[in-house]
Amino acid sequence: MTTSNPHPKAICFIGLGTMGREMAINLMKAGHRVQAFDVRHEAVDALAALGATACLSIATATRGADVAITMLPDTPDVDAVVYGEGGLLAHPPAGRLVIDMSTIAPNAASRIAADLEAAGVDFLDAPVSGGPVGARNATLSIMAGTAEAFARARDVFAGMGTTITHVGDSGAGQTVKLCNQLVCGINIQAICEAIALGRASGVDLHLLRSVLLGGSAASWMLDKLGEGMIDGDAKAGFRIDLMLKDLRLVQQQAQALSVPLPATALVTNQYIEARAHGEGGNGNQALFRVYDRMTNQAREA
Ligand code: NAD
Repeated sequence: MTTSNPHPKAICFIGLGTMGREMAINLMKAGHRVQAFDVRHEAVDALAALGATACLSIATATRGADVAITMLPDTPDVDAVVYGEGGLLAHPPAGRLVIDMSTIAPNAASRIAADLEAAGVDFLDAPVSGGPVGARNATLSIMAGTAEAFARARDVFAGMGTTITHVGDSGAGQTVKLCNQLVCGINIQAICEAIALGRASGVDLHLLRSVLLGGSAASWMLDKLGEGMIDGDAKAGFRIDLMLKDLRLVQQQAQALSVPLPATALVTNQYIEARAHGEGGNGNQALFRVYDRMTNQAREA
């Protein structure tokens, strides 16, 4: 259902994948107009069928737009969209505000902010947490840097999330997101270990999950991913490949600052093992298949 919005904005949305598509739909539901671009034309067409304006280039997507939002896989993708031929640096939105909601390196976010600001364009790093369900239900947690740009972006964020926090200067949103990912990765590993031990001991794993959810071991990951681990459902929501990218960014940041993160290193190696077994495109719950293999209980990929 579309709500009437007293201050509707024209929003250029670039990157209509698992997260971006749902976020763009929610912006339309919140009364904004979306000018959609993705290198996958079928993703653009699918959003146009729901009311967005289909755009075949970044230049057309930003034309007359108040703001441009990017939701792309990794740092090189955001760099390509900003600096590449026909990109946002050459064709900024008319409102001169760019918000990157992807998870990328904090120092890349600061670099992009400086380069766009030199061209008179505000840039805000505003990564999200909450997964595809949070994207669909407009309940994302959004963590953003740069105070001034944050103030300009608030009512756009309100269409996509419920916990919207200014966390510091340029790049701080990405740093907080990396801390979030470190906790998620290690938590997923802890859940795998509990299920592996429970399975070997012969306890009912669905009961195990529901008991843990009722006590101090409860977590978002156990709630959202536990059943998939137990049932061997590897369907992608948040892909192994993307978590591995995030853990790489965590470790790069930690090494640059000489912060030892031994638990992150351990779980990163398990994600590398999962990818080596062809699970990069699977959801994060498929990390449990590493434990399947370690206990000689491997299931079909
Ligand atoms: P995705 O791979 O499903 O979607 C990315 C989209 O970007 C694709 O549609 C792709 O075609 C498009 N794209 C890639 N390069 C492009 C370019 N140069 N120009 C235009 N479009 C381009 O990824 P996702 O799961 O939606 O995640 C997006 C970002 O959000 C990632 O940084 C991820 O780490 C982060 N994130 C994901 C989740 C999740 O649960 N999936 C949760 C929180 C944060």
